[in-house]
Amino acid sequence: MNNIDFGIDLGTTNSGIGKFQNGKVQVFKNPVGFKETLPSVVAYRNDRILIGDKAREFIKTQPNHVFSSFKRKMGSDFVYQLPHSDEQKTPIDFSTLILKELMNFTADERPKAAVITIPASFDTIQSNATKTAGYNAGLKEVVLLQEPIAACLAYANTQNLDINEQKKWLVYDFGGGTFDVALVKINDRELKIIDHEGSNFLGGVDIDQLMVEQLFCPQLEKILGEDGLWKRMVGSEDLAYQKMFMELAYKAEEAKKELSINEESFVEMEISGDFIEMKVTRQQFNDLIKPKVDETIKLTQSLLEKNQISNQEIDRIILVGGTTYIPYIKKSLADTFHCYVDNTIDPTTAIIVGAAYFAGTKAVEEKAQNEEVSVPEITQLKEVKLVYEINSQDNEELLTGLVAGEFSGYYRITRLDGGFDTGMMPFHTRFNEFLKLLPKSINYFNVKIFDKLQHLVFEKGQVAINHGVYNISGQPLPNDICIEVDDTVGSTFLEKIFKKNEILPLSKTVYKTISKTILKGTDDQLIINVVEGNAATSPASNLCIGYLEIAASKLSANLLKGTDIELKFEISESRDLTISLFIDAIGLELEEVFNASARNVSLEKIKTELNNALNQIDWEIEDFSYKGLDDVMEKLNVIRMEIIELMRELIEAEDDLVTDKIFNIDERKRKVFQAFDQQVRGKNLLEEIEEYQLYKQQIKEELLLHPNPKIDRMFQIIIKNEQVFLNSDQISVVRSKIKELKRLARELYYQHDEAYIDLFYDYAHLSVTDYENETQAKKLISKGEDAVEKRNFQELKSIISSLYNLLKVKPKDYLEDQNGTLGLR
Ligand code: ADP
Ligand code: MG
Repeated sequence: MNNIDFGIDLGTTNSGIGKFQNGKVQVFKNPVGFKETLPSVVAYRNDRILIGDKAREFIKTQPNHVFSSFKRKMGSDFVYQLPHSDEQKTPIDFSTLILKELMNFTADERPKAAVITIPASFDTIQSNATKTAGYNAGLKEVVLLQEPIAACLAYANTQNLDINEQKKWLVYDFGGGTFDVALVKINDRELKIIDHEGSNFLGGVDIDQLMVEQLFCPQLEKILGEDGLWKRMVGSEDLAYQKMFMELAYKAEEAKKELSINEESFVEMEISGDFIEMKVTRQQFNDLIKPKVDETIKLTQSLLEKNQISNQEIDRIILVGGTTYIPYIKKSLADTFHCYVDNTIDPTTAIIVGAAYFAGTKAVEEKAQNEEVSVPEITQLKEVKLVYEINSQDNEELLTGLVAGEFSGYYRITRLDGGFDTGMMPFHTRFNEFLKLLPKSINYFNVKIFDKLQHLVFEKGQVAINHGVYNISGQPLPNDICIEVDDTVGSTFLEKIFKKNEILPLSKTVYKTISKTILKGTDDQLIINVVEGNAATSPASNLCIGYLEIAASKLSANLLKGTDIELKFEISESRDLTISLFIDAIGLELEEVFNASARNVSLEKIKTELNNALNQIDWEIEDFSYKGLDDVMEKLNVIRMEIIELMRELIEAEDDLVTDKIFNIDERKRKVFQAFDQQVRGKNLLEEIEEYQLYKQQIKEELLLHPNPKIDRMFQIIIKNEQVFLNSDQISVVRSKIKELKRLARELYYQHDEAYIDLFYDYAHLSVTDYENETQAKKLISKGEDAVEKRNFQELKSIISSLYNLLKVKPKDYLEDQNGTLGLR
């Protein structure tokens, strides 16, 4: 068994590759220029493709030939137009080029498998896009690792930490294009991510652009006597302005870096033959970036609040990402959180180092095994189980061997470097052995089992035990994964399949009922949206990552409304989502019914959504003010202001062809909508809970007056675990409980014949035009009135049933109210 060993940081701005070897990580250098990182930049020049530093140089002179920050658009359907050709490229294509270039760093040893890091906030589509880039670059196996975990692994493994009690760390990663903060728990051997926050559109690039817009443009406008320079630079097709923007942004970045060391920096521009010099002081710069830094601090605070953790509980803040070189950031964090801010590792290579440590503990899958290395593994025994911890901080680790059935023979365990050998040891069915470990490295052992005649019957080479290298207890799912389900009142809600922060891999089977008939052989289908986000909010404020489809063309028999279906959801550690479907009634089994879809970001769509949200929030604010709920109203007003701000920025973005404003707005929009939902849903949830309590009370009273053991039993089953589901924050669960209670209440109600009188009058009071045959309906109604008078309930029930049959639009059964909805319930 080999380990993956190669770790890659595929960054927005910079990428790099490292390898785990003999307990250490080596970060490879670019054979050209000997830097440890490669700018994630691609340029097209005549028929050459340039990658990295060489590509970056052309930003100033031929900006429309240079492509960067494409990681921010991973998983979207965005395409880049190549200059002077009709060829188009996707963010995946460019990422593939970067990965291929990185693999040149490793000289003669080409990686077949690698760990590639992703931001913790990457959704399923973005994660899958990253994996695709890896495969396209020629890797046979790609394992994804969340960046904050990589950062922690780098810290934990390179510092001589002596952790006896559990500690909590914050990993603050401010890179070129993204900001991520993660809350991590670490004990003497394992790390666990508790939760994370972040923005995919907040990074060093935004600081550079801000410098151009607010520091340089006003100065240039004065000198040039020209207004609206920024607008022209980001909004016009004029190459001269685009070049100017790119040159300024490039120089802003250089000046920014200089300001991390010096108190001031100068930017020189040549405009129409004149040299213009602009000065920036550190103070100016700090004032400029304060709102951005505050935004990161706000996200960090909300992460702590969400998890009810105080500043005092944080042992340290680990700094990652090139932007954290800025002294003001370190100071702001220390001032705000009053804890140790740790920047002892190079923030630009930390992720590479961590990815390689992780790769050093991950076994290569069969398909990516290097063919030349044969791994001894023979077995003539039915089943042998070896139980041991793959990570250890101790000098020795216990290994237990178990052979299925009755077995007597010998075992022998050797360490591959020859420093440990048990010799032939007799055993019966099971053995225990303490394996001596070499410190700070991965120890490989060979385990052999012999029969009574000392013939080899089992061998396993490369049993790897990691000493002193920190590992993780699993990667968490960054968001809830839900399906969109029909509601009884015609709208939809989210049903949670997997919960945020559950540890991957995950698997779950759910049972649903089809509420629409699909006839085989037609082109009919049933589509169920799969959504990633927050289950406690409405479908619209989340991200649709794809859909599952039951197509009539795949059916061998008709699928009738009301049929039960079984759906099995699985997510691998590297975020592959698969859904399979099983329909017992027609013996149908379909694998892979999930279709992933790329994210579509369109300005028009966002505009409509924002407009709708604004109308809705105005309505809600009025409603809350009517009810006198001032605190909610206040929160809604803040959200309303944010929506208006987004609308304003969207108008600006309309003429913005250069920056990623629309993507940024789309992401913030989703967050604002979720905040809105949470306020309003809270209200709806309370209303639902009230309704639940009402029905419960009603049934309780009825059962006291007219005891009914069968119904009482059913009632107890429904209200069991009440505390759990009422506090679950899941409106759908409460609704389904209400439905069950309603059904019971109805059953109780119709225990008494008198109840049928009310029901009859419900039918009698319908308009005669609701019935297929008016005269017949009238006749039945008058007969019914007779029956009521004579208290002939037998007759009355039969009349109600006849009226039901005459109805043009029928409720599900004659006792129930009408509800005809499509999809699943
Ligand atoms: P990513 O993870 O997005 O690939 P990095 O962690 O490599 O990015 O960080 C890149 C960002 O860090 C860029 O925006 C760059 O300008 C910024 N950066 C690098 N060095 C410094 C510095 N000394 N001072 C301020 N910012 C820096
Ligand atoms: Mg990074």
